[in-house]
Amino acid sequence: MRDDFLATPLQFLKGVGPRKAADLTRAGLVTVEDLLYRLPFRYEDRSRMQPIASLRPGHKAAVLGEIKSAHLAITRRRGFKIFHAVVGDGSGAIRCTWMNQAFLADILKPHLAVVVFGDVRLDSTGLHFMNPEYELVAEDLSGVHTGRIVPFYEKAGMVTPNMQRRLVRQALDDLPPTLPDLLPLELRDRLRLMPRRTAIEEAHFPPNEAPVDALNAFRTAAQRRLIFEEFFLFQIGYAWRRHASSTELKPFVPTVDDRIRASAAKVLPFKLTPGQRQAVKEIVDDMLQPKPMHRLLQGDVGAGKTIVALLAAVVAMENGLQVAFMAPTEILAVQHYGNIARLLSQSRFRVDLLTGGTPGPQKHAVTAHIERGTTNLIVGTHALVQDTVRFHTLGLVVIDEQHRFGVVQRAALRAKGLQPDVLLMTATPIPRTLALTDYSELDVSKIPDLPPGRTPVRTWVKPESGRDEIYRLVRDQLDAGRQAYVVYPLIEESEKIDLKSATEMADHLQAEVFPAYRVALLHGRMKPDAKERIMQAFVAGRIHILVSTTVVEVGVDVPNASIMVVEHAERFGLSQLHQLRGRVGRGPWESHCVLLYQAPWTDEARERLKAMASTSDGFAIAERDLELRGPGDFFGTRQSGLPKLRTGDLVRDRDIMEDAHREARRLIEDGGLTAELLRFVQQRWQQQFGLIEVG
Ligand code: ADP
Ligand code: MG
Repeated sequence: MRDDFLATPLQFLKGVGPRKAADLTRAGLVTVEDLLYRLPFRYEDRSRMQPIASLRPGHKAAVLGEIKSAHLAITRRRGFKIFHAVVGDGSGAIRCTWMNQAFLADILKPHLAVVVFGDVRLDSTGLHFMNPEYELVAEDLSGVHTGRIVPFYEKAGMVTPNMQRRLVRQALDDLPPTLPDLLPLELRDRLRLMPRRTAIEEAHFPPNEAPVDALNAFRTAAQRRLIFEEFFLFQIGYAWRRHASSTELKPFVPTVDDRIRASAAKVLPFKLTPGQRQAVKEIVDDMLQPKPMHRLLQGDVGAGKTIVALLAAVVAMENGLQVAFMAPTEILAVQHYGNIARLLSQSRFRVDLLTGGTPGPQKHAVTAHIERGTTNLIVGTHALVQDTVRFHTLGLVVIDEQHRFGVVQRAALRAKGLQPDVLLMTATPIPRTLALTDYSELDVSKIPDLPPGRTPVRTWVKPESGRDEIYRLVRDQLDAGRQAYVVYPLIEESEKIDLKSATEMADHLQAEVFPAYRVALLHGRMKPDAKERIMQAFVAGRIHILVSTTVVEVGVDVPNASIMVVEHAERFGLSQLHQLRGRVGRGPWESHCVLLYQAPWTDEARERLKAMASTSDGFAIAERDLELRGPGDFFGTRQSGLPKLRTGDLVRDRDIMEDAHREARRLIEDGGLTAELLRFVQQRWQQQFGLIEVG
């Protein structure tokens, strides 16, 4: 959008001196464009003037009248200055009072025409306005702060809402009658988009007949046009990147024959579900293509994603390629390693484990094997990306529970290989909106079914006071030979306190509540080998109750565990609770998940727990989570790779994002990328949207 006027630094606007310019810069407003693309967050209708005689206390009102009298009073107490004015129209008069704004004596002089807007109050002396907004009518007939639908801006540093309103008006007055437009004309006509110049004007200062409800819902033609513009330019970047990467080729393309099929079949310990079979087929078909795979495997907790990935791994290894299998936690990496090593024990493939907890000498040996190519499959954590791990022939990267990883790590691991195939796995379905952004380059396979014999988990939401009843439920399960999880939240600020309460709880449960059973504590601060020992004992059934911080959240698989008690459930996010709940219900027995909450809880927490009790559908839960928390928090703000948007909102405006996504792909596929658009993508896309890489 190289347009001279929009690129003008704000300091060249009238009335913006170096100090104000510095304030604006600190608030992220450098150019006229920055200012004009920072839209109001709400609007208020101050267009209808009310006769003073009709005013009622307790309502907001705007009146137009003449200043009948004015005087500045100084209170004896602490030198408080109070400015009084009386404003009259044909129907009556009303007092206006401003505290500590002595300068008004120089502005609001008798006989001037003024619009006053504010709350009408009633006291012993009658109706009055306290600290109302005002505007001299002679000075500004069009009205900026009153007498119209007025925009409200969020305060940004030292830049007050009123200051922004004035600056915006001034910038708009100086704006040329038409502005260059990056949106192709054909598109604008077809979607009936408003001209850019008009949209900017009306998004800030809507015409008086504009519906205020629609404005506040960001649904007017002007607002939607600007949001579409932003989303479209954003999607053009993705579409272009996708297009550009379609020319990348793998140095070695795997093949599949009967021998390889037989080798994969030998690994299988059970019959695949139809959903798993379909996913394996899609993944392997993709691996046989000359272009690197970028695929997301989505399947609810317990759907059996691991075996699907392992079959893909066998295909890669049979083709002489190495496989990296990355898990988000140490415990999960260890568990995967154990399972995979067992399943591959009859094969000729060597499986190794590399995590932050791998002892030095062993780490040295493992990295040497990886580099030489004698390790066929390496399971690990972040260490696989961060360490100086060099692969011999990396052909497939599997990233489990991938929403835990940032875009950066994904890219880094991908860069280690020679255009390896990448398979991401997640139990957290990608809500539609996000599927159109960071995930839009990915192909998606879904496992819609669960392995046979699972029974749905019964979910209970219980207050702290129901604890005894819950212990009886736990005892019933233990007496029947099952095992239990008790989960504690750990929040960073109070990690010590929480850890202390988890520890005390474990002691209490052992000594007083379940003395006949073995209770153990597992938490994130423990040494890796200590964690592993406890996990192994739990898997083997030697520990009956595992009191844990959320380290059990992802992926842990102990089918005999049939009950989970989540302490302080009100502190957990929805997707996290869903993950946790997925740890039970893995065996043939009826399972329970008890969400214990402690008052006071917020409305949002209540909504969350209600949602958990009412559905076990991971997709519905993810959508609800996104609505409740907003996109920023959904995958963890910093890692998410979500765009920094100026006008649009990923949740509120998801329909616009869908349009933009469709139109951007269409334009690129039709070869309609103009030189200007290409320049925008190359020069401004990353900077504008705060994205990490452009292919
Ligand atoms: P997730 O998709 O959550 O990662 P896992 O891969 O851990 O699920 O599988 C969950 C459990 O289900 C494991 O114990 C696994 O062995 C078992 N499983 C997976 N697929 C099947 C199947 N087709 N039949 C029976 N059990 C299966
Ligand atoms: Mg898993």
